[in-house]
Amino acid sequence: MQQKIVLKLLPSEAADVNIIKEYIANSAGKKANEITGFHLLKKSIDARGKHIYINLTIQAFINEPFVERALSTVTFHDVSKARRKVIIVGAGPTGLFAALKLIEEGIQPIILERGKDVRARRRDLAVLNKEGVVDPDSNYCFGEGGAGTYSDGKLYTRSNKRGDINRILSLFVQFGAEEQIVVEAHPHIGTNKLPQIITAMRECITHCGGIFLFDKKVSDFIIEENTINGVITADGDQFEADAVILATGHSARDIFKLLHRKKILIEAKPFALGVRIEHPQSIIDNIQYHCINRGDFLPPASYSLVQQVENKGVFSFCMCPGGIIAPASTTGGELVVNGWSPSKRNNPFANSGMVVTVENKDFEKSEDFKAYMKDKEMEDNSPLSMMFFQEMVEQKAYMAGGGRFVAPAQRMADFCNDKVSGSLPICSYLPGVNSTDLTGVLPAFIHTSLQEAFKAFGKKMRGYLTNEAVVVATESRTSSPVRIPRNSGTLQHPQIKNLYPCGEGAGYAGGIVSAAMDGERVAIMIATR
Ligand SMILES: Cc1cc2nc3c(=O)[nH]c(=O)nc-3n(C[C@H](O)[C@H](O)[C@H](O)COP(=O)(O)OP(=O)(O)OC[C@H]3O[C@@H](n4cnc5c(N)ncnc54)[C@H](O)[C@@H]3O)c2cc1C
Repeated sequence: MQQKIVLKLLPSEAADVNIIKEYIANSAGKKANEITGFHLLKKSIDARGKHIYINLTIQAFINEPFVERALSTVTFHDVSKARRKVIIVGAGPTGLFAALKLIEEGIQPIILERGKDVRARRRDLAVLNKEGVVDPDSNYCFGEGGAGTYSDGKLYTRSNKRGDINRILSLFVQFGAEEQIVVEAHPHIGTNKLPQIITAMRECITHCGGIFLFDKKVSDFIIEENTINGVITADGDQFEADAVILATGHSARDIFKLLHRKKILIEAKPFALGVRIEHPQSIIDNIQYHCINRGDFLPPASYSLVQQVENKGVFSFCMCPGGIIAPASTTGGELVVNGWSPSKRNNPFANSGMVVTVENKDFEKSEDFKAYMKDKEMEDNSPLSMMFFQEMVEQKAYMAGGGRFVAPAQRMADFCNDKVSGSLPICSYLPGVNSTDLTGVLPAFIHTSLQEAFKAFGKKMRGYLTNEAVVVATESRTSSPVRIPRNSGTLQHPQIKNLYPCGEGAGYAGGIVSAAMDGERVAIMIATR
């Protein structure tokens, strides 16, 4: 027979298959040799009490032959001669999962990606980190796999109503991710493993007859009588298809400007902006696991923090235990940071975005911003206002860092006490950090909200507010500052027929899994129409 069993074990016990079998036997009232095997269904860490436990939900096989788990796999058929063709602009998680779903539905995808394949892209990242020079089409945000490729690969999302999370996780496994991602409460893949998985997805798409082109930056749309028939790329090529999925991500400012210029409806969208904070991982382990050394059986600890400061929400974002802070700028003269970690999360630092929600009313009276918009010949209330506000802060940070993507930074307690740091701790950010008073970089409402939130976080997690941590500016690409509207029934743009705004850049996703689910959703909609 098979039986579902829930166990609460010490970390060392949960790492030993024989001990787990003994617990299963105990729980089921059987002998250990009657347990023929088990499948792990869910695994999570409970670090709330003095002792840390691992919660396991298990499907146990008792007195019957053990059967290996077979995750469902999807079969992709040849679509090279398909009657219907759909252009997908952008090969991030949205574009890739949309393409796979279109193939499943018998439609040929034509993916146009401005950046390079994952291998060539890695070389551009090395130049950015070592020489402080960014390729505007190949960086941490642009290129094969999108912003998700050189990330932590966290696959956790709260958007479980927007699609089938398990299907997305199973597809990642089908393309090479480890099976454990389907059972862990907070799964992640790691920067070192994501590129192979993305490559496997591309190979599947092209093997099935999908078209996948790099160095193809879409620079215009072919629109006749309010219907999109295709796109034009920066090198002058034209592509035509039955529909266009716009999956260009939150950093494709040229696409937002193009839409605005062509009078295609877009809207300013609240987003979040702040800093990335980095602690020694040992401090976070000590706080979260209440111990001096986490030992061999616990992963590097993470955290998730949120605080309301007056009317502003301040929250941690994209926490990377054992991670690295990375330069995520997409053009010169702007400083953007983000974080990643390898699958083992074995770097000695823990970093996390710490961001404040930004709405139009927060900056509409700012003289700096008015001058910036005037300089751009833009109205203050333009749908691009949030995007320009984001850009203005990123430019200030770049100047304050001193160039070549050196980031302005301050020790955490000094940041809260308005004190310039005499020196900075060692930081994982490769282009380097420059001690700076961040009051001159961050807008006042963000600076004060972060100060208050950090003090509150220090009370929630004793030891968190420390000068051993460094605050690095700016974390500004957490979500899109623009929404490209779409009809909730057809998922098409309300003005332009057959144009499908999709994923994070259009404002319908936040993170790899929700972006992938939105890509699938739009592909299914196109297939059914
Ligand atoms: C360093 C880093 C770490 C991250 N870590 C995580 C994490 O651990 N977990 C998580 O869930 N999320 C993480 N994110 C966020 C995640 O990567 C995004 O939410 C996700 O990639 C959004 O998917 P998308 O396909 O909508 O957009 P994107 O991934 O941004 O993809 C858009 C694609 O469109 C292309 N493009 C843009 N303009 C054009 C054009 N004009 N023509 C042709 N192509 C174009 C871009 O090159 C890009 O490949 C991280 C992001 C970064 C930068």
